[in-house]
Amino acid sequence: MNKKLFLNTIGLALMVMTFTMCKSQPASVPSTPDEALAELIAGNERYVNEKCINPHSDMERVEETAPHQAPFAAVVGCSDSRVPVELLFDQGIGDIFVIRTAGNNVNSEMVMGSVDYAIEHLGVKVLLVLGHGSCGGVTGAISEGGHEHGNIAHLLGTIRNDVNDYVGKADCLDDAIRHHTLVQVERIMAYPHIAEKVEKGEVIVKAAYYDVKSGKVSFLQ
Ligand SMILES: [Zn+2]
Repeated sequence: MNKKLFLNTIGLALMVMTFTMCKSQPASVPSTPDEALAELIAGNERYVNEKCINPHSDMERVEETAPHQAPFAAVVGCSDSRVPVELLFDQGIGDIFVIRTAGNNVNSEMVMGSVDYAIEHLGVKVLLVLGHGSCGGVTGAISEGGHEHGNIAHLLGTIRNDVNDYVGKADCLDDAIRHHTLVQVERIMAYPHIAEKVEKGEVIVKAAYYDVKSGKVSFLQ
């Protein structure tokens, strides 16, 4: 191979590599609740193992989803900056309907309205409530010496109602977080129209826990 041909070949190879790296790979599109849950689990595995494919993150996907959204999953998570939902499940634009509040408590019409919208109108196949380690919302709720006021006091009081047994027990923070997450799923499942869809196998509702140290999501039930 002469020098010019060699350089041309290298140049072409670099162009192909650049194109491949910029273009996000398509993720499989789950068509059942079991497949949806499996994709979230697989996505978190990719994330933890640093094998992310960053699906659905290019302009083609932006244009594709502009007319309407059809996410396969909904996640009720904490606003905590260490819990970026799409990243930790290796998903992209239009994949997950995310509802985030500090402490991920669903005991409000705004949050439950969002949950209902995801299940009834968007037809998500899986709904996760995602608690996480070192949650400041739950930490504040079980703290006895808080002096918060206004909206923050209201937020912490709402969380505290679900973790009363842990107030004053800072050593049990992680248990309180897990308990709090499970209570949110119980609350969601207490709505007959949601329980009916779960019963029919149309949607899976689960409590999960994100470990901020490892990046790993585990399921609580
Ligand atoms: Zn939190």
